[in-house]
Amino acid sequence: MRTTLLILTIIIFKTSFCQKETQKLSITHLTKDFYIYTTYGDAGGGQMYPANGMYLITNKGVVLFDTPWDTTQFQPLLDSIKQKHNKNVIMCISTHFHSDRTAGLSYYKQKGINTYTTKQTDELSKDKKEPRAEFLMYKDTTFQVGQYSFETYYPGKGHSPDNIVLWFNNEKILYGGCIIKSTETNSIGNLSDANTIEWIKSIKNVQTKFIKPYFIIPGHLSWNSKKSLAHTLSILKKYNRKNNQ
Ligand SMILES: [Zn+2]
Repeated sequence: MRTTLLILTIIIFKTSFCQKETQKLSITHLTKDFYIYTTYGDAGGGQMYPANGMYLITNKGVVLFDTPWDTTQFQPLLDSIKQKHNKNVIMCISTHFHSDRTAGLSYYKQKGINTYTTKQTDELSKDKKEPRAEFLMYKDTTFQVGQYSFETYYPGKGHSPDNIVLWFNNEKILYGGCIIKSTETNSIGNLSDANTIEWIKSIKNVQTKFIKPYFIIPGHLSWNSKKSLAHTLSILKKYNRKNNQ
């Protein structure tokens, strides 16, 4: 009886401990070898807000798209990936210079992971004294990693001057980052580096270039809807009308 109670206590303790951990980092399967991971950061006023990143399991190792926003989660993310898939992260691409995309670049570089941003992102990161990648992209780039290939695309200014998206043509996955707003929110979000006029053109460039995406991953909140590009346009148009732009 006493042993059973002890075991029960241990189970309850472990469960509550694990639940606490999943609040800081959650991993959701998207499709095939693609996973979305979510960490939380302070979006201002102490309110914790989720940020989405993605990773892809290839037969050459794991590719990370954006780093955790929460600086305590750089290593837990690597550990969770290792535990879940028994593979190491070999490469990381950040999609713009804000800390919800780049916070972990120096950490991952030190871990021997090949970190990438565009030259434009790197210049902004350097100006703001933010972590920087080891390798730079000077133009839209196609990567082949193991059995997967994907391309980067700079559609123009939007949420930030340097925001890029990633496209996985075989799987029709559009990894949008913060240029794409989730249908879960009507808020335009952080505009500190945004250009709301150019943003509309940039979204249209993405819509023209990548036809019928099957999954669209926004930088924050739910990725369940395929209408997030149209939704982003509608938020921007409303905002511009209200501000006479
Ligand atoms: Zn963001």
